[in-house]
Amino acid sequence: MNYLKIAIVGAGIAGLSCAYEFEKHGIMPTIFEKRRRIGEDIDFTTSTLKLFDRTYEDPLIYTKKEYGLDLEPLNVLSKIIMQGPTKKAIIKNTSGYIFRRGDIKNSLENQLASYIKTPITFYKHIYIDDIKSQYDFIIDATGLFDEAKKLDLLTPHLEAFARISTISGEFDINTIKMWVNTEYAKKCFAYRLAHSPNKACLALTANNISQKELDCYWEKFIAKENTQSTIIKTTDVRHEIGAVFPHNFGNIFFIGKAGGFIDSLLGFGMLNAIETGILAALYIIYKKSYEELVRPIFDQNQSKYEIRKILNTFENKDFDNLIKFLGSPGIKQMIYNNPFAKVHQAGKLAKLYNIFKGLHCL
Ligand SMILES: Cc1cc2nc3c(=O)[nH]c(=O)nc-3n(C[C@H](O)[C@H](O)[C@H](O)COP(=O)(O)OP(=O)(O)OC[C@H]3O[C@@H](n4cnc5c(N)ncnc54)[C@H](O)[C@@H]3O)c2cc1C
Repeated sequence: MNYLKIAIVGAGIAGLSCAYEFEKHGIMPTIFEKRRRIGEDIDFTTSTLKLFDRTYEDPLIYTKKEYGLDLEPLNVLSKIIMQGPTKKAIIKNTSGYIFRRGDIKNSLENQLASYIKTPITFYKHIYIDDIKSQYDFIIDATGLFDEAKKLDLLTPHLEAFARISTISGEFDINTIKMWVNTEYAKKCFAYRLAHSPNKACLALTANNISQKELDCYWEKFIAKENTQSTIIKTTDVRHEIGAVFPHNFGNIFFIGKAGGFIDSLLGFGMLNAIETGILAALYIIYKKSYEELVRPIFDQNQSKYEIRKILNTFENKDFDNLIKFLGSPGIKQMIYNNPFAKVHQAGKLAKLYNIFKGLHCL
């Protein structure tokens, strides 16, 4: 196996997980990263939510048992506050994890990097066409759709811009606060997750807008929700979500966000990035079908996309009705305290609704 020449393009969550699995099997890939070091240049905090996870097991137990990765969250996520245009819902005793991201000690990326020995070639922006013939396999872990678009493998689901800021104030370290309001987030949302009791990440994502317009949406958000905090720094990122199919073309394999393994409902993709990185390596080592291995993840993202299509038709009154519904006692009990409730299951109902409304297209 050592004779295999593998290039991993991108040292994010997916690329590092893939390198980890190759190393476990005695293969040293070549890893290229265009930035100066591991981790996004953005300082942000992200979460997992049991309701959104693919497996029924706790995701940290799952990644440890299945893949030998012992990952440490920043905090446990136990409360969700959903703020609509006029309605609010508070969900307590929910379960999830909060992770630090970016170029920060103990960020998810840096934890994964501590598992690998392969040196990373930094400051190396790779164009896949340039290296395709030099390697047996190329792993596209760029977090971007450039290659998938070029090969016409992408079906776009959502195009948005996000502003991610670090703020200071007083925060509950186990709570996520989310806002929906078409006036500033269009059909997306804003969220706040604490880095610590006095620092947090405040992010706004709005779809179908230009980067220039983001200023205006951000100002509306801050003015309306007056988050009582001081902004320390902000970064803007383009946030593109879509389905890639197939996930392998010639000797190129698409993993993580570059493979469309991020859901188009809330944009969750961390666990998928870890898993698809590992599965691509397993495909190459054991010659299993990559498409078959990633199918459950792909199908569940497609299912969540059916819900996204409904949200794309929402006005503010619909978001308020949804929040009222999600916060009502019987529903809270049924959804959040039920270990078997998963968002992707609701996607099946959403698909029927979309077929009925003519919103479903293959
Ligand atoms: C604002 C925001 C909030 C999010 N919140 C959540 C959340 O709460 N929960 C969740 O599960 N997910 C969340 N996500 C999604 C999650 O961050 C991604 O799914 C995950 O980072 C994808 O990992 P990746 O390794 O595929 O891509 P990335 O993390 O984007 O890594 C790609 C790497 O490739 C490098 N690269 C790119 N092009 C090249 C090239 N040509 N040559 C060399 N290197 C290259 C980049 O520099 C980068 O280091 C969020 C994303 C954003 C933007």
